[in-house]
Amino acid sequence: MTRPGKIVCVGRNYREHAKELGNDVPSAPLLFLKPPSAVLAPGAAIVMPRVSQRVDFEGEIGVVVGAALRKATPAQCAAGIRGIAALNDVTARDLQKSDGQWTRGKGFDTFCPIGPLWEGHPPLDAITLVTRVNGVEKQRAISAEMVFPIPDLLSYISHIMTLEPGDVVATGTPAGVGPLQAGDLVEVELVGYSAVRNPVEADA
Ligand code: ZN
Repeated sequence: MTRPGKIVCVGRNYREHAKELGNDVPSAPLLFLKPPSAVLAPGAAIVMPRVSQRVDFEGEIGVVVGAALRKATPAQCAAGIRGIAALNDVTARDLQKSDGQWTRGKGFDTFCPIGPLWEGHPPLDAITLVTRVNGVEKQRAISAEMVFPIPDLLSYISHIMTLEPGDVVATGTPAGVGPLQAGDLVEVELVGYSAVRNPVEADA
């Protein structure tokens, strides 16, 4: 996949995940950015930074934008999607907490594995997401469980910043997040659409 101009991420968009980290569900989408330099190809290694003691996987549905969307309605946004791709919002959880804002904890190189783009218009409320570590299932959810549905998320974002073709929106992770260790193999699958599998290694 070509490198996106920006990666807009959504925090706490599944009730059970907000709860597992002791947070309330936000009343409006909670947004943050990951740098495009964090993008990692399928099969390449996620590198655990030495400054973090806790690097988590977060399986997510990545929505790839296909048209310029500015102050767009949810229906316009749904029509303006190019496709979807499996995405892993890798997070240094300890740094996310200690910094109070999320740029460092979310922004390391290799912290955004993205799978092959599935081009088209899937049923946006019926995408099944599964995350496995070393073949063991850790997360399973369906997109209907999102607090803010995908077209609403894109519309909300488009009222803040123009979404441009190739931009990626990471739509939030469901419950079940957990730590990665060097030597692990982590896989995020959007069943029937896209999957991304990456080994994990220590920083040499
Ligand atoms: Zn996330």
